[in-house]
Amino acid sequence: MNLPEHVVLGGGVAWALSPVLGVQGSAIFWVASVLIDADHYGDYLQRNGFRDWSPRRMFEFHARVFPQIRRPDFLALNLCHTVEFFTFVYVAAAVLRSSVLWAVFWGMCFHLLLDVMWLAWHRAVFCRALSLIEYAIRRRRMRDRGLDPDLVYEEVLVAMGVTRPEPAPLLSSRSSSS
Ligand SMILES: [Zn+2]
Repeated sequence: MNLPEHVVLGGGVAWALSPVLGVQGSAIFWVASVLIDADHYGDYLQRNGFRDWSPRRMFEFHARVFPQIRRPDFLALNLCHTVEFFTFVYVAAAVLRSSVLWAVFWGMCFHLLLDVMWLAWHRAVFCRALSLIEYAIRRRRMRDRGLDPDLVYEEVLVAMGVTRPEPAPLLSSRSSSS
């Protein structure tokens, strides 16, 4: 789901929850429900090799990637949307007995719920791995099937002019001599 929808829906639910969470808790819930998507920026930086830091192009990048989420070689991972990250925040909130971290956690849960519903609407619930372990396993399986899970992203970066196309691999001496 896109940032404006998260801002509006998160704000609406945070406002509705203010009798339960209090004003400060609701504000934190709202901020967390939006800021969890900051991992998309990290994803953009990592995929372009930290060459381009433009937030505007980051939005363009994800807008161009999104129509391709149903490709068989598509697989996304967003670090703050993983069960491992959720577990970390949950444990931290429980151990520290922190109402701030609980508000962050519930904001994250709300965000993820919206994301999953959005992807279900687009019939692509499984286009994003929700665990680091799941991601590693699925990447390996894709590669075993001859699919490159990085290709979609590389194509978009090249189309945007952020990176240059990879040079075609030279025929290796191994294949030419055999
Ligand atoms: Zn998200």
